[in-house]
Amino acid sequence: MRIILLGAPGAGKGTQAKSISNKYNIPHISTGDIFRKNISERTPLGIEAKKYIDNGQLVPDELTIDIIKSRLVEEDCENGYLLDGYPRTVEQAKALDVFLNEREANLDTALLIKVPREFILERMTGRRVCPSCGASYHVKFNPPKNEGICDICGSDIIQRDDDAEITVNKRLDIYEAQTHPLIEYYKSRDLLSEVDGTQAINDVFESVSKVLNELRK
Ligand code: ADP
Ligand code: ADP
Ligand code: ZN
Repeated sequence: MRIILLGAPGAGKGTQAKSISNKYNIPHISTGDIFRKNISERTPLGIEAKKYIDNGQLVPDELTIDIIKSRLVEEDCENGYLLDGYPRTVEQAKALDVFLNEREANLDTALLIKVPREFILERMTGRRVCPSCGASYHVKFNPPKNEGICDICGSDIIQRDDDAEITVNKRLDIYEAQTHPLIEYYKSRDLLSEVDGTQAINDVFESVSKVLNELRK
Protein backbone atom coordinates (compact mmCIF):
# COMPACT_ATOMS: atom_id res chain seq x y z
CA MET A 1 0.00 0.00 0.00
CA ARG A 2 1.07 3.56 -0.66
CA ILE A 3 -0.40 5.90 1.91
CA ILE A 4 -0.05 9.59 2.73
CA LEU A 5 -0.89 10.84 6.20
CA LEU A 6 -2.37 14.34 6.31
CA GLY A 7 -3.09 16.44 9.35
CA ALA A 8 -1.90 19.45 11.30
CA PRO A 9 1.36 19.37 13.23
CA GLY A 10 0.49 17.50 16.44
CA ALA A 11 -2.51 15.69 14.95
CA GLY A 12 -0.93 12.34 15.75
CA LYS A 13 0.57 11.35 12.39
CA GLY A 14 3.85 10.09 13.80
CA THR A 15 2.10 8.20 16.60
CA GLN A 16 -0.27 6.42 14.22
CA ALA A 17 2.46 5.91 11.63
CA LYS A 18 4.46 3.66 13.98
CA SER A 19 1.43 1.37 14.47
CA ILE A 20 0.42 1.39 10.80
CA SER A 21 3.96 0.59 9.72
CA ASN A 22 4.05 -2.43 12.08
CA LYS A 23 0.62 -3.77 11.24
CA TYR A 24 0.77 -3.36 7.46
CA ASN A 25 4.48 -3.97 7.13
CA ILE A 26 5.37 -0.87 5.14
CA PRO A 27 8.20 1.57 5.88
CA HIS A 28 7.33 4.75 7.78
CA ILE A 29 8.92 7.68 5.96
CA SER A 30 8.92 10.94 7.87
CA THR A 31 10.60 13.93 6.26
CA GLY A 32 10.79 15.51 9.73
CA ASP A 33 12.74 12.48 11.02
CA ILE A 34 15.04 12.58 7.98
CA PHE A 35 15.78 16.27 8.58
CA ARG A 36 16.35 15.76 12.33
CA LYS A 37 18.76 12.89 11.67
CA ASN A 38 20.72 15.11 9.28
CA ILE A 39 20.72 17.93 11.80
CA SER A 40 22.10 15.71 14.56
CA GLU A 41 24.79 14.40 12.18
CA ARG A 42 25.57 17.96 11.01
CA THR A 43 25.38 17.05 7.32
CA PRO A 44 25.17 19.90 4.76
CA LEU A 45 21.46 19.10 4.34
CA GLY A 46 20.97 19.22 8.10
CA ILE A 47 22.73 22.56 8.43
CA GLU A 48 20.56 24.05 5.67
CA ALA A 49 17.28 22.54 6.93
CA LYS A 50 17.89 23.65 10.52
CA LYS A 51 17.67 27.32 9.53
CA TYR A 52 14.05 26.81 8.52
CA ILE A 53 12.95 24.22 11.06
CA ASP A 54 14.07 26.21 14.10
CA ASN A 55 11.97 29.10 12.80
CA GLY A 56 8.89 26.97 12.28
CA GLN A 57 9.14 27.46 8.51
CA LEU A 58 8.97 24.83 5.82
CA VAL A 59 12.19 23.60 4.28
CA PRO A 60 12.19 24.75 0.60
CA ASP A 61 10.41 22.46 -1.86
CA GLU A 62 13.44 21.81 -4.12
CA LEU A 63 15.39 20.36 -1.23
CA THR A 64 12.50 18.38 0.20
CA ILE A 65 11.38 16.92 -3.12
CA ASP A 66 14.87 15.63 -3.92
CA ILE A 67 15.13 14.00 -0.52
CA ILE A 68 11.85 12.17 -0.76
CA LYS A 69 12.54 11.00 -4.31
CA SER A 70 15.84 9.47 -3.34
CA ARG A 71 14.21 7.78 -0.35
CA LEU A 72 11.33 6.32 -2.37
CA VAL A 73 13.62 4.51 -4.81
CA GLU A 74 15.19 2.49 -2.01
CA GLU A 75 14.47 -1.21 -2.06
CA ASP A 76 12.24 -1.33 1.02
CA CYS A 77 9.72 0.93 -0.78
CA GLU A 78 8.98 -1.57 -3.53
CA ASN A 79 5.83 -2.88 -1.89
CA GLY A 80 4.61 0.44 -0.60
CA TYR A 81 5.23 3.04 2.06
CA LEU A 82 3.62 5.40 4.48
CA LEU A 83 4.47 9.08 4.06
CA ASP A 84 4.29 11.18 7.21
CA GLY A 85 4.88 14.90 6.78
CA TYR A 86 5.17 14.79 2.99
CA PRO A 87 3.67 16.39 0.92
CA ARG A 88 3.23 19.69 2.77
CA THR A 89 2.69 21.96 -0.23
CA VAL A 90 0.82 21.61 -3.52
CA GLU A 91 4.21 21.77 -5.31
CA GLN A 92 5.36 18.73 -3.33
CA ALA A 93 2.12 16.87 -4.08
CA LYS A 94 2.52 17.55 -7.80
CA ALA A 95 6.11 16.30 -7.72
CA LEU A 96 4.93 13.11 -6.03
CA ASP A 97 2.26 12.65 -8.70
CA VAL A 98 4.89 12.92 -11.43
CA PHE A 99 7.13 10.44 -9.62
CA LEU A 100 4.26 7.95 -9.25
CA ASN A 101 3.07 8.38 -12.83
CA GLU A 102 6.55 7.69 -14.15
CA ARG A 103 6.43 4.37 -12.32
CA GLU A 104 2.82 3.60 -13.14
CA ALA A 105 2.21 3.46 -9.42
CA ASN A 106 -0.76 4.96 -7.61
CA LEU A 107 -1.63 6.10 -4.13
CA ASP A 108 -4.14 4.06 -2.15
CA THR A 109 -5.23 6.97 -0.03
CA ALA A 110 -4.42 10.29 1.60
CA LEU A 111 -5.62 9.70 5.14
CA LEU A 112 -6.47 12.84 7.09
CA ILE A 113 -6.21 12.70 10.88
CA LYS A 114 -8.66 15.44 11.74
CA VAL A 115 -7.98 17.43 14.92
CA PRO A 116 -9.30 20.98 15.52
CA ARG A 117 -6.72 23.63 16.32
CA GLU A 118 -7.81 24.07 19.95
CA PHE A 119 -6.47 20.57 20.78
CA ILE A 120 -3.13 21.07 19.13
CA LEU A 121 -1.21 23.42 21.42
CA GLU A 122 -1.47 21.13 24.45
CA ARG A 123 -0.46 18.14 22.38
CA MET A 124 2.61 19.80 20.95
CA THR A 125 3.91 21.55 24.05
CA GLY A 126 3.54 18.26 25.98
CA ARG A 127 5.21 16.22 23.25
CA ARG A 128 8.46 14.41 24.02
CA VAL A 129 10.33 12.48 21.37
CA CYS A 130 13.03 9.86 21.17
CA PRO A 131 15.98 11.25 19.21
CA SER A 132 17.16 7.70 18.38
CA CYS A 133 14.07 5.96 17.05
CA GLY A 134 11.66 8.86 16.51
CA ALA A 135 8.96 7.55 18.88
CA SER A 136 6.60 10.25 20.11
CA TYR A 137 5.31 10.51 23.70
CA HIS A 138 3.21 12.96 25.65
CA VAL A 139 3.70 13.98 29.28
CA LYS A 140 -0.03 13.56 29.94
CA PHE A 141 -1.65 11.59 27.12
CA ASN A 142 1.02 9.02 26.36
CA PRO A 143 3.84 8.95 28.91
CA PRO A 144 6.61 6.33 28.58
CA LYS A 145 6.58 3.48 31.10
CA ASN A 146 9.72 4.80 32.79
CA GLU A 147 9.87 8.57 33.08
CA GLY A 148 12.17 10.16 30.51
CA ILE A 149 13.10 6.86 28.82
CA CYS A 150 11.95 5.56 25.42
CA ASP A 151 9.88 2.35 25.74
CA ILE A 152 11.14 1.06 22.42
CA CYS A 153 14.89 1.67 22.47
CA GLY A 154 15.78 2.88 25.98
CA SER A 155 17.23 6.27 24.93
CA ASP A 156 16.55 9.45 26.91
CA ILE A 157 13.58 11.30 25.44
CA ILE A 158 13.72 15.05 24.77
CA GLN A 159 11.56 18.04 23.89
CA ARG A 160 12.00 19.29 20.34
CA ASP A 161 13.28 22.89 20.05
CA ASP A 162 10.50 23.66 17.57
CA ASP A 163 7.78 22.54 20.00
CA ALA A 164 8.04 25.77 22.02
CA GLU A 165 4.67 27.56 22.11
CA ILE A 166 5.71 30.51 19.94
CA THR A 167 7.06 28.27 17.17
CA VAL A 168 4.04 25.98 17.37
CA ASN A 169 1.67 28.87 16.61
CA LYS A 170 3.75 29.88 13.63
CA ARG A 171 3.78 26.30 12.33
CA LEU A 172 0.02 26.11 12.65
CA ASP A 173 -0.38 29.29 10.60
CA ILE A 174 1.91 27.86 7.94
CA TYR A 175 -0.07 24.61 7.99
CA GLU A 176 -3.31 26.50 7.35
CA ALA A 177 -1.82 28.51 4.51
CA GLN A 178 0.33 25.92 2.74
CA THR A 179 -0.65 22.38 3.74
CA HIS A 180 -4.39 22.54 4.39
CA PRO A 181 -5.08 23.06 0.64
CA LEU A 182 -3.87 19.48 0.10
CA ILE A 183 -7.13 18.22 1.59
CA GLU A 184 -8.98 19.66 -1.42
CA TYR A 185 -6.22 18.48 -3.73
CA TYR A 186 -6.69 14.83 -2.75
CA LYS A 187 -10.45 15.11 -2.33
CA SER A 188 -10.79 16.27 -5.93
CA ARG A 189 -8.77 13.22 -7.02
CA ASP A 190 -11.08 10.99 -4.96
CA LEU A 191 -8.24 9.82 -2.73
CA LEU A 192 -9.13 11.45 0.57
CA SER A 193 -10.20 9.45 3.61
CA GLU A 194 -10.43 10.75 7.17
CA VAL A 195 -10.58 9.71 10.81
CA ASP A 196 -11.47 11.62 13.97
CA GLY A 197 -8.11 12.34 15.60
CA THR A 198 -9.57 13.65 18.86
CA GLN A 199 -10.22 10.11 20.12
CA ALA A 200 -7.78 8.27 22.39
CA ILE A 201 -4.68 6.99 20.57
CA ASN A 202 -5.90 3.35 20.42
CA ASP A 203 -9.31 4.38 19.15
CA VAL A 204 -7.77 6.52 16.43
CA PHE A 205 -5.78 3.45 15.39
CA GLU A 206 -8.93 1.37 15.26
CA SER A 207 -10.55 3.94 12.95
CA VAL A 208 -7.40 4.04 10.82
CA SER A 209 -7.34 0.24 10.55
CA LYS A 210 -10.98 0.18 9.43
CA VAL A 211 -10.22 2.61 6.62
CA LEU A 212 -7.11 0.74 5.49
CA ASN A 213 -8.72 -2.71 5.70
CA GLU A 214 -11.57 -1.47 3.56
CA LEU A 215 -9.05 -0.33 0.91
CA ARG A 216 -7.35 -3.71 0.81
CA LYS A 217 -10.58 -5.57 -0.01
P1 ADP B 1 5.19 18.01 12.88
O1 ADP B 1 4.44 16.78 12.45
O2 ADP B 1 5.16 18.24 14.34
O3 ADP B 1 4.82 19.23 12.10
P2 ADP B 1 7.58 17.12 11.43
O4 ADP B 1 8.51 16.25 12.16
O5 ADP B 1 6.74 16.50 10.38
O6 ADP B 1 6.72 17.84 12.55
O7 ADP B 1 8.37 18.32 10.75
C1 ADP B 1 9.22 19.15 11.49
C2 ADP B 1 9.70 20.32 10.62
O8 ADP B 1 10.46 19.79 9.52
C3 ADP B 1 8.59 21.12 9.96
O9 ADP B 1 8.10 22.15 10.82
C4 ADP B 1 9.31 21.69 8.74
O10 ADP B 1 10.16 22.76 9.09
C5 ADP B 1 10.21 20.53 8.33
N1 ADP B 1 9.55 19.65 7.35
C6 ADP B 1 9.16 18.36 7.55
N2 ADP B 1 8.59 17.86 6.44
C7 ADP B 1 8.61 18.86 5.52
C8 ADP B 1 8.15 18.99 4.17
N3 ADP B 1 7.53 17.97 3.53
N4 ADP B 1 8.34 20.16 3.54
C9 ADP B 1 8.97 21.19 4.14
N5 ADP B 1 9.40 21.16 5.41
C10 ADP B 1 9.23 20.00 6.10
P1 ADP C 1 2.38 14.67 14.42
O1 ADP C 1 3.33 13.63 13.89
O2 ADP C 1 1.11 14.72 13.62
O3 ADP C 1 3.02 16.01 14.55
P2 ADP C 1 2.53 13.22 16.98
O4 ADP C 1 2.17 11.82 16.61
O5 ADP C 1 3.93 13.52 17.28
O6 ADP C 1 1.93 14.24 15.87
O7 ADP C 1 1.59 13.64 18.21
C1 ADP C 1 1.69 14.92 18.82
C2 ADP C 1 1.60 14.79 20.34
O8 ADP C 1 0.25 14.40 20.70
C3 ADP C 1 2.50 13.73 20.95
O9 ADP C 1 2.90 14.18 22.21
C4 ADP C 1 1.60 12.50 21.05
O10 ADP C 1 2.00 11.63 22.12
C5 ADP C 1 0.25 13.12 21.35
N1 ADP C 1 -0.88 12.39 20.75
C6 ADP C 1 -0.92 11.74 19.57
N2 ADP C 1 -2.14 11.20 19.34
C7 ADP C 1 -2.91 11.56 20.41
C8 ADP C 1 -4.29 11.31 20.77
N3 ADP C 1 -5.11 10.60 19.97
N4 ADP C 1 -4.72 11.83 21.95
C9 ADP C 1 -3.88 12.55 22.76
N5 ADP C 1 -2.59 12.81 22.48
C10 ADP C 1 -2.10 12.32 21.31
ZN1 ZN D 1 13.47 5.26 21.05
